[in-house]
Amino acid sequence: MFDPDFSFCPNCGSPQLSKLIPPDDNRERQVCGECQTIHYHNPRIIVGTVPFIDGEVLLCRRAIDPKKGKWNLPCGFLELGEDLKTGALRETEEEAGVHPQLAGLHTVYSVPELGQHFTIFAGRLSDKKMDPGHETLEAAFFRLEDIPWDEVAFRSNRFCLKALARDLEAGSLSTHFGVYPE
Ligand SMILES: [Zn+2]
Repeated sequence: MFDPDFSFCPNCGSPQLSKLIPPDDNRERQVCGECQTIHYHNPRIIVGTVPFIDGEVLLCRRAIDPKKGKWNLPCGFLELGEDLKTGALRETEEEAGVHPQLAGLHTVYSVPELGQHFTIFAGRLSDKKMDPGHETLEAAFFRLEDIPWDEVAFRSNRFCLKALARDLEAGSLSTHFGVYPE
């Protein structure tokens, strides 16, 4: 299980942190014995797009760990102050240098044990121009039947791409929900 506990209180720097169930709560939290701050650890949201045009999808080969060298959808952590669509477009611009038109929420894939939730929008491209950023070794278009599945970085990405393949075959986009490891 993912353990995000602090060694020092981020509020006052004290090492006097203990695990206890605060009054009116129902689960253990890290509480500072010095400044009494209760530290809540909440899940993180990953946003991105699955950019597609003419039955092909754009994937990026990761220049950074984890999974360096593997193919990935353009996605990353939502920033404070951003809405989901803005974050998805920012990550897509940063990693692939493309500007898709969002065509609806496509995949929500949760990995509870890591506290991560992937939120991927379908991104319709109007051309194949791209300009990958420094977190990307290269970007390339793949016909869905040619996707190198063993080289796709994360199960969330495989889930999304397989769902998109079914959607395009059926001729209409829909929204898909998945939970790791189901
Ligand atoms: Zn403190």
